[in-house]
Amino acid sequence: TKYVYAFAEGNKDQKDLLGGKGANLAEMTNLGLPVPPGFTITTRACQAFLETGANPPELAGQVGEHLAALEKTMGKTLGDAADPLLVSVRSGAKFSMPGMMETVLNVGLNDESVHGLANQSGDERFAQDSYRRLLQMFGKTVLDIDGEHFESAIDAAKKAKGAKNDIDLDADDLRDLVKTFKKIIVDETGQDFPQDPRAQMDLATQAVFESWNAPRAILYRRQERIPSDLGTAVNIVAMVFGNLGPDSGTGVAFTRDPATGRTGIYGDYLQNAQGEDVVAGVRNTVALAELENIDKKSFDQLLGIMSTLEHHYLDLCDIEFTIERGNLWMLQTRVGKRTAAAAFRIAVALVEEGLIDQDEALRRVTGDQLANLMFPRFGSTADAKKLTKGMNASPGAAVGKVVFDSATAVREAAAGEKVILVRRETNPDDLNGMIAAVGVLTSRGGKTSHAAVVARGMGKTCVCGAEELEVDQKSRTITAADGTVVSEGDLISIDGSTGDVFLGEVPVTDSPVVEYFEGTLEPGENDDLVQAVDRLIKHADSVRRLGVRTNADNGEDSARARRFGAEGIGLCRTEHMFLGERRHQVERLILAEGKEERDAALAALLPLQRGDFIEIFEAMDGKEVTVRLLDPPLHEFLPDLTDLSVRVAVAQERGEATEEDHRLLDAVRRLHEQNPMLGLRGVRLGIVIPGLFAMQVRAIAEAAAQRKKAGGDPRAEIMIPLVGAVQELELVRDETERVLAEVGAATGVELHMLIGTMIELPRAALTAGQIAVAADFFSFGTNDLTQMVWGFSRDDVEAAFFSRYLDRGIFGVSPFESLDVEGVGRMIRIASEEGRGTRPDLKLGVCGEHGGDPASVHFFHQVGLDYVSCSPFRVPVARLEAGRAAI
Ligand code: ADP
Ligand code: MG
Ligand code: MG
Repeated sequence: TKYVYAFAEGNKDQKDLLGGKGANLAEMTNLGLPVPPGFTITTRACQAFLETGANPPELAGQVGEHLAALEKTMGKTLGDAADPLLVSVRSGAKFSMPGMMETVLNVGLNDESVHGLANQSGDERFAQDSYRRLLQMFGKTVLDIDGEHFESAIDAAKKAKGAKNDIDLDADDLRDLVKTFKKIIVDETGQDFPQDPRAQMDLATQAVFESWNAPRAILYRRQERIPSDLGTAVNIVAMVFGNLGPDSGTGVAFTRDPATGRTGIYGDYLQNAQGEDVVAGVRNTVALAELENIDKKSFDQLLGIMSTLEHHYLDLCDIEFTIERGNLWMLQTRVGKRTAAAAFRIAVALVEEGLIDQDEALRRVTGDQLANLMFPRFGSTADAKKLTKGMNASPGAAVGKVVFDSATAVREAAAGEKVILVRRETNPDDLNGMIAAVGVLTSRGGKTSHAAVVARGMGKTCVCGAEELEVDQKSRTITAADGTVVSEGDLISIDGSTGDVFLGEVPVTDSPVVEYFEGTLEPGENDDLVQAVDRLIKHADSVRRLGVRTNADNGEDSARARRFGAEGIGLCRTEHMFLGERRHQVERLILAEGKEERDAALAALLPLQRGDFIEIFEAMDGKEVTVRLLDPPLHEFLPDLTDLSVRVAVAQERGEATEEDHRLLDAVRRLHEQNPMLGLRGVRLGIVIPGLFAMQVRAIAEAAAQRKKAGGDPRAEIMIPLVGAVQELELVRDETERVLAEVGAATGVELHMLIGTMIELPRAALTAGQIAVAADFFSFGTNDLTQMVWGFSRDDVEAAFFSRYLDRGIFGVSPFESLDVEGVGRMIRIASEEGRGTRPDLKLGVCGEHGGDPASVHFFHQVGLDYVSCSPFRVPVARLEAGRAAI
């Protein structure tokens, strides 16, 4: 097996094998860009190492050959005492995991070669600085020494000298630090720092392999749904030095603004520094635009390369570069992460620039990003007390209690509190807290700091680099420039779109994207974001095959969903219509003794139901409305058994209990079920309670007749829930047809309605071929179907043990959130095929929560459903994803 590739041998499409970093280094090399020479050890080598605990036997030889070639190219030998070649050993997985894994710079330095480096560069300080960095990174990464040891040694050296920055330490100070660091290594590991250059390189490689399974990397992968068996590649890259004085430096750049998507010059630069310094925030960076004044030649060259990269990758790229004594070197590029707004703006801008077509633009945005843009944001902040303005690192409006550490964030969030994690800067150990928090605020670090990058990836609101705030982790306070002190537990509001930080709770309002969908904002009115959304959603509509309906059970929701683009109602629940003041009518029905009492109770409910349907048919005029007959267990409409027992007992004590009280208590006892979700509900109610479904059908039919007479175009479809056997459906269907005929005759209006069923029991799915005989349509009730297929009680398991299941990797996401394609999806596939086998024109839809979940929508498209139905706010998301599924 070939385990090692020279950069010239790879390309950008080999991310599986070379990792993202390696594949793109190869691509840049082959584009003729100035990349320091090097080679990549493949992910396959890592996988073999992780499986067996040892390197594949041929690896050492292959690495040796490539190292020899690299030495030849560079005209230097690794770690040579007189003129050493130094290399970096860099992790790089298929998917970027910012800051998660390890890199060691300056490999090849030892007690001898450090002098060679000093002689060759003519800069003793630089050589010692490079050596202490190697000792520090190697100590942390390879030898697992707590980084604190090194950092406090640096702090002590600075203090002794009265120095503020690490660059104020001179060659002698750094030589002393090297000694101290070597002592730390001996003290902590019982062994000397390895002097053999090749051993350093091999140990670092192994450490990178092992960092794949570091706890924080595992957590990040779970969060980002990255498979755990990919492994990482390792890149060995000849060192170039940004720490060779003021005409050297290092930086990061974006070809467009990753926060807004607009064009311009974005990035950070740090003079006389090595790579990690920029991200770690050891000193304050300058804006990239400043580089023009510092080194115009390199700046111009960099802009040229950025344009080359954008035209080559046809997308926003982010870049790491280093300048060594006026020479520019490219150290990394990749298609950059971006906010939701940036994704939409960039996709449309690239279409305008003629670089990509509309289909490709649609592929570049996601339903999750659209959902993100529909989040509310802060309304008027005129009355709010502004504490400061930091950098707008990741958009959104977050209000929460201040917490200062990850553990507290996790604890408070578990107790149901909304918290904002406040840190001077975050590091990978803060990941848990960032996940638990509604927002993240840091006082240091730029838009490329750890906090910013990770928050953007998670779609979490983040303000970073709020330098005026003094964050004191010890006293657990934030002090603003004007002296205002915010303590742990106090409420603050952070605006990730502007960078503003406010004391207290700021009220939130609708996003412009929602206003656009509502029709209260015309695209073109000064908002390029709304224009981009408009353009891409219209394109999605033009290419999608799946219809998009909504779940709504009143006129208001129906009207809103229609404005959001719903093409009908896929699920109109009737149980909500039985709540509130109508509850006692239902009580009367349940308590009825004999036909007469029951008919009277039903007769009282009829006009109320009819009124509801008239309203809905009006709002959805000309569009299909699927009305589901009563589904939940009846006891949901009655008082709680324990409460009622106590109340009646007390009343009896006082001699005040009525006959009505006793009847109610009896009924509640009679209807009480151990497993209500598996009990008397759905079609079973229709069969057991005479007249109930007939009344509902009559209400639907009379409402439709009335709308027709008024010139409307009502299009009702009647849906029977929880059918498991075709016989159940046939019984109810007969009754339904009879009532429709009766109302038709009585009103003189022709009433054609489809009669169908939900498929939400495994038995229904498995006998779909039979059920289709009596059904005009199927609607997959994926919430219940998931519950029944897995045997998970929807109302209990998520809180009870799902977090454990997620932790243990049993599934990556709750099957109630995103459809379990293998299990539940297979049921849907079987039912669709067998149903259509019986009845080729069988209409198929889905009405569970999954109808608005992006991944699930793609599956529903694939399996050939006619439409999905979801809550009104998810309708635009489903439209977009249905379009994406079709291209
Ligand atoms: P990460 O994936 O965390 O960004 P990298 O492997 O990119 O880690 O390396 C960390 C830092 O070191 C980056 O700033 C990078 O540009 C810098 N770096 C890596 N290799 C070299 C090299 N050969 N010469 C100079 N700087 C390097
Ligand atoms: Mg990097
Ligand atoms: Mg159901």
